[in-house]
Amino acid sequence: MAVRRILRIDDPDDKKILTTRCHAVRMPNPSLKQLAADMFETMHAANGVGLAAPQIGITQRLTVISIPPAVEERADGSLVEVEPEQNYVLINPEIIKASAQQVNGLEGCLSLPGWYGEVPRASWVTVEYTDLTGKRQRIRKATGLLARALQHEIDHLDGILFTERIRDLSTLKDYSQEEAPAAAE
Ligand code: ZN
Repeated sequence: MAVRRILRIDDPDDKKILTTRCHAVRMPNPSLKQLAADMFETMHAANGVGLAAPQIGITQRLTVISIPPAVEERADGSLVEVEPEQNYVLINPEIIKASAQQVNGLEGCLSLPGWYGEVPRASWVTVEYTDLTGKRQRIRKATGLLARALQHEIDHLDGILFTERIRDLSTLKDYSQEEAPAAAE
């Protein structure tokens, strides 16, 4: 496995690639397993919850998402995992249904480290995708961080950056001297 370089929105050459609409992955594709493993490693090294192939310079419709486990604190102060970590490799993903209702939330992008802004997103989405075995799968009515990550990553595959989705640009701020206020994707 290898950590790849993550392209940056604020680099003009990188931005050209990041704003390109990616093409569909043709299946079967035996090299995807290694590529997905590299993408997970790159994403984890950067403390992200999602990474799209164009962010490492590959303009194909492939993205990985890793939602951390949900933990709850018990009365005695101990932490218990109430939902396990969720890992997805999504090939040719498509939003097939989305809620009309939108929710605002702080969002960051691994291609603009340290910066976060308020992005409105559909509160739930249903996504169809192909998995690494070539099987078409469906995530039904994803909510919360998974819903936000799915919309952020699929935007990347269409060459759309989160900065274009921010309605109030005064919310876009540099948090690099502080603790990250939200997840970066
Ligand atoms: Zn991003």
